[in-house]
This record gives sequence, structure tokens and C-alpha cells, in this order.
Amino acid sequence: MKKDANKSPSPAKLRRHTEKALLASEERYRRLFEKSHDAIMTLEPPSWKFTTGNPAAIAMFKAKNEAEFVSCEPWKLSPERQPDGRLSDEKSQAMIAKAMREGSNFFEWIHKRLNGEEFPATVLLSRVEQDKFSFLQATVRDITGQKRAEEALLESKALVEAVVENIPLMIFLKEATDLRFVIFNRAGEELLGYDRKTLLGKNDLDLFPPEQAAHFVAKDREVLDGKAALLDIPEEPILTAKKGRRLLHTRKVCIRGADGTTKYLLGISEDITERKQAEAEIRKLNETLEQRVHERTTELARANQELETLIRIASHDLRSPLVNIQGFCQLLNKACASITSLLADVSLPDEARQTLAASREKAEKSIRFINAGVEKMNSLIGGLLRLSRLGRAPLVLQSLDMNVLLNTVVEAMTFQIRAAAADVTVETLPDCRADAALINQVFSNLLDNAVKYRDPARRLRARIWGRHPGWGRRPGWDCREKDAHTVYCVEDNGLGVAPEHQQKIWDLFYRPNHQENGAGEGVGLTVVQQIVERHGGKVWVESEVGKGSRFFLTLPADEKEAKP
Ligand code: ADP
Repeated sequence: MKKDANKSPSPAKLRRHTEKALLASEERYRRLFEKSHDAIMTLEPPSWKFTTGNPAAIAMFKAKNEAEFVSCEPWKLSPERQPDGRLSDEKSQAMIAKAMREGSNFFEWIHKRLNGEEFPATVLLSRVEQDKFSFLQATVRDITGQKRAEEALLESKALVEAVVENIPLMIFLKEATDLRFVIFNRAGEELLGYDRKTLLGKNDLDLFPPEQAAHFVAKDREVLDGKAALLDIPEEPILTAKKGRRLLHTRKVCIRGADGTTKYLLGISEDITERKQAEAEIRKLNETLEQRVHERTTELARANQELETLIRIASHDLRSPLVNIQGFCQLLNKACASITSLLADVSLPDEARQTLAASREKAEKSIRFINAGVEKMNSLIGGLLRLSRLGRAPLVLQSLDMNVLLNTVVEAMTFQIRAAAADVTVETLPDCRADAALINQVFSNLLDNAVKYRDPARRLRARIWGRHPGWGRRPGWDCREKDAHTVYCVEDNGLGVAPEHQQKIWDLFYRPNHQENGAGEGVGLTVVQQIVERHGGKVWVESEVGKGSRFFLTLPADEKEAKP
């Protein structure tokens, strides 16, 4: 038995065993050949035509069956030239020769299906030795899908690169580990004044002064350590190689890998130097304007004060020569009285009497003229003084019951009103906030004018009325006034003011020509205008000669709108 165990198998048994193993291996190979997704075919010398083709090869090349496939001329299964420009025939000979020489050859190839459609493929040519005969086995894989995906990937990569490259903002990407630059766009090169070759692979410490580099690194770390998802640095100074000191607005974010680990730091910086300079200049310009307004206001206030002083001094100084003139007039009057007593002397010769009488008459006439002139001058100076006092006195603002105030005004004028047999009506008036004494002056002047400039042809009817803010629209009256001011009107049926005088009557000493010698100084309306404007209001007149006038004025309706 022992002997049997060591006994080698008989040759017949060995052959049977080998044949069985061979059959099994052939079966495995056949299955692989038939089920493979890759096209598998054999080519044999010397024509190197395909001699077999698996079902995948038949389907790939769109042949009806294996017979049609193997009967095909090889040149029909490739386009005339390959992408490198070489003739497919010539190149395939070279590929085959290499595979035969080296045992195998792997390469990319453009094939052609029998319907003429071309497709990219990888080809593996393997030399097979059988019974001293060498042939080739080709494994062809259609890589159309892979090529398309690669192209799409390249295209989207090119797109992203084009955007990054052309965007007018500095874009950079740093490795999270050592903060070295791995991407830098054109705007970044221009801003920093270095070319990309210099920048890539470097970090901030290689490029900037130590203090500045330390600041950048600290900010990068803040983002990478997760302290801020997005770091916004609105104004970041930077010292660049060519442009010197610039001001940036920088945003930094952390880029993570699929596994969540920090991979890169992405930075986007905008050069805001020029914008900030422009903003500063505009601010400076605005200030200089404001400054000019302030200077002019101060200048105007000073000029006004000087003018007031001048008026005060002039009016005061003009008064003394007037007193002198009046004094000498009195002396002249006395001289006239002496002449009168001389004339009483009966012994006086007739000729002398006549001469003396004529001289006395002339002197008395001159004295009358001088006196009238002096009086006129005196009243003008009085007007000037009143006006100069107006500018200086501070406003005492209070809520005014205008009906009470107008009662006082009308009462004070009772004598003139009666003398003129005038009919004066005061309607219910809205209140305002103003200086009582000054507003009394305003209405006194206006009512006095109504009486003075009445039409002798008819009985004077004067009416004082008022409206609350928001009443109608009038010339020279803007919305602000309309909303915050009350309106008052002194209306009469007097002589009226001709259109050409309606603006000028507000000027100091202005009186229409025809009444040059009549009563009045031409100061009353100027005083009215000054007072109303000091309160922030406006005055205007509507009038028609022969019919009458309406003198309007606005005053602040409440405390907020009152101007000191
Ligand atoms: P004055 O009355 O002293 O002349 P005003 O400044 O008060 O000075 O008036 C200026 C001029 O305006 C007057 O001379 C007069 O011609 C005209 N005026 C003023 N009020 C009236 C009025 N109610 N009716 C007609 N004319 C007027």
C-alpha cells in the first residue's frame, strides 16, 4: 500500500488530467472573451487583419456578425489620419511592430465604426506565442464618455481660470499648512508689482516687511482656525513693490476638503486707495464750503454792525448842526421883529420904509423854508435812528393774541381814524409767535399808511384779516412758509400803488415822485419789512391804482419755526 502511495500517476491518467484542465481553462477564457465589455480580437501576420472578434468587438464596430467583422479591411476601421497627423495605416504598422518587438503596446487610437462614426479608444496589443507562431491580441476600450467628461472638466476649469484671471480684484489662494501662495491672478500681480513666478510658492514673510507679514498671517490664522467663517477687513494698508502704500478691502475665507479638513485660504482684495482719496477730497471740499458760508455770515454780521454804528453816529452828529440852524433862525426871527418895530417909527422916510419891509418879507420867507427843511431833516434822522435801533434790539418772542394786539393799535390811532371818518374792521385773527412791541409797530405803520394814502373821493374802508398756516398760495411764498407761517393782511380801498412802485416802496426813503413834498419819510414800510424778515417771515403787496391795496405779511405760527 505504501509502495502504491509513492507511485506516480500513469501517463494516460496524466494526459486526461491535463486535457481536463485545458478544457476548463479554455472555457474560462471563452467566457471572458464573450462577456467582456472591451472589444477583444486577434490579428495575424502578415496582413494583420482581424481574425477573431468577441461580441463586444462586433457591437463596438457596428458589424452584423463576426464574419462581417473579420472580413473587414483594417483600413476601414480607422480614419485616414490620427490626431497627431500621421496616416493611420503607417502608424498602426509601427504600433504592431512595437508590440511584436516588446511583447505589448498600450496607446490611444481613433477608430471608425462600419457606419463611419469615429470614436476614441485605448488599445492594448499583446503578443501571443502559440506553436512557434506569433500573433497579436488587441483589447480595445471605447473611451468616448471618459473623453467627454475630461473635456467638460477642462472646459469648466478653463472657465474658472478665465474668471479668476480677468476679474479686476486681487485673488489669491494659500496652502493652509504653510500659507504659501498657490494661485495668484493678474490683478494681484499688477497690484503687488511682482510676477506670478516670483509670488507662487512664497508666503507673506518672503514678500512684505515683518510687521505687515505678521498682520496678514494673524488674519489668515483667524480664518483657518475657524474663528471667523468670512473675515471682512474694510481698510487694510499694504506696502507694495511698485505702487507703494495702498489701501485694500480684503475678504478671506477658508476652503475645506471633502473630509472637512482645512485645505486653502482664499483671499479677495479690492484696491480702494483712489476711492478713499476721492471721498476724503469731497469731504474736504464740503468742509471748505461750509467754511465759506460761515466766513460770509460773519463778514455780513460785521458789515451790518458797522453800518448801524455809522447810521447812529451820523444821525446823532447831523442833529447838532440842525440845532444850530434852528438857533440862528430864531436870531433871524428876532431881527425881523426889530425891523417890524423900526417900521412903526413914523419919521422913517418912505423909501427906507419900503426897502426895510421888502427885506423883512424876504427874510421871513427864507426862515419858513429853512424851518421846513430842518423839520424834514429832523424827521429823516428820526427815521434813520428808529431803523438802527431795530437791528440791535434782541427779539422777545412770545405767543401773541393778535386780536388783543390789534385792539391796542386801533385804539392808539382813534384820533386819525375819526378825523378821516374811516371804517376800520379787524376780523378774528390767528395767533403767532413774535415780538409784541415790534409787531405793534408793523401794524401801526400799515394802518397809518392806509389812513394817509386814502382816496379823498370815497370813504376809507380798512380791513385787517389773517389766515392759519397752509392757506392758499401767494407770490414769493414757498412751501415751508405755507406750512409753518400764519398770513396777515391790511387791506384798504385807498389810492393804490402803481405796479412800477410796488417793489421799490419797501426801500429806505423811497416815495413815489408825485408825493415828494407830502407827509412821510419813506421809512415806514422799510421798518415793516425789517421786522417781519427778522422773524423769518415775508412781506409783499397786491395793489391797483384807484381801487386799493393789500399789504401781506407772514409770521411764525409756533415756537419751533420762530427765528431769533
Ligand atoms: P411814507 O409813508 O413815510 O412815505 P412808507 O415807507 O410807509 O413811507 O411808504 C412808502 C410809500 O408807499 C408811500 O410814500 C406811499 O407812496 C406808498 N404807500 C404805502 N402804503 C400805502 C397804501 N396803503 N396805499 C397807497 N400807497 C401806499
